[in-house]
Amino acid sequence: MNNAASKVAVVGSGISGAVCACTLARNGISVTLFDSARGPGGRMSQRRETSEDGKEMLFDHGAPFFTVTNNDVLALVREWESGGLVAEWKVSLGSFDCVSKKFVNIQQDGMNKKYVGVPGMNSICKALCRQPGVESKFGVGVGRFEWLEDKNLWSVSGLDGQSLGQFNGAVASDKNVVSPRFRDVTGRPPPLDLTFAPDLAVKLEEIPVNPCFALMLAFSEPLSSDPSYQISYLNVLKASLGDRPTANDGYCIQLQTMQGL
Ligand SMILES: Cc1cc2nc3c(=O)[nH]c(=O)nc-3n(C[C@H](O)[C@H](O)[C@H](O)COP(=O)(O)OP(=O)(O)OC[C@H]3O[C@@H](n4cnc5c(N)ncnc54)[C@H](O)[C@@H]3O)c2cc1C
Repeated sequence: MNNAASKVAVVGSGISGAVCACTLARNGISVTLFDSARGPGGRMSQRRETSEDGKEMLFDHGAPFFTVTNNDVLALVREWESGGLVAEWKVSLGSFDCVSKKFVNIQQDGMNKKYVGVPGMNSICKALCRQPGVESKFGVGVGRFEWLEDKNLWSVSGLDGQSLGQFNGAVASDKNVVSPRFRDVTGRPPPLDLTFAPDLAVKLEEIPVNPCFALMLAFSEPLSSDPSYQISYLNVLKASLGDRPTANDGYCIQLQTMQGL
């Protein structure tokens, strides 16, 4: 692909799509990023709500934090850290014993560093989607990818069938573009027909998709007076207090089912 002339469509502004779009743009490729959601982040989105007394509440209702084990990713995260997009989250993880009503099995120092987005988890994707060379279009669902043999281009159209442009390359960051579940949700066939790549279709089929619920709760008083106990694992529920240096001061909590992250 000749970079100078290349245009690539990236579908999805979650962390995979956003990193991909930004990396392509840094290499001189002109990127158009589409996401059906109102804003960037995917499963690293942040939700704003206002309480009855007018207090703003922020919920990182997807990933509340992440750790890094891969050196390439670590290099990226250090770059984000020096740009103020992420910060280390210095908390201990443990289990809450319902009988003694105490935290037990508190994680010792020296484990992998935990990182959070600043001020919210969506800050990373937000910044990546605004990089020079990335044109981001939100509220635009992609309904069809079609390979135009005669032009050597991908034609991308929206859910309403309207053309979103022609591109030298197309990247889909969400399995749903080939999944039959897409039809269940939209009533339309999945955007990408993988009959031309049956091996890939089989591999994608093997990736499990598990539903997950996130319950966002807010309280009139902070939940924990001990700042070192931010997260507890309660059997199948993960509870994360929303109080990082930037948000909520412990008034908000998310309960997430552990399966299907
Ligand atoms: C409740 C919960 C807790 C989690 N906790 C952790 C944690 O503690 N640590 C951790 O590391 N990870 C955690 N994860 C997992 C982590 O959030 C995800 O693995 C990661 O964010 C996935 O990023 P992604 O870019 O691959 O996909 P996504 O974030 O799902 O992004 C896909 C994007 O594509 C868009 N899209 C899909 N189809 C189309 C279409 N046809 N047209 C336009 N746009 C489309 C979607 O709107 C979405 O924005 C958690 C996830 C959840 C849900």
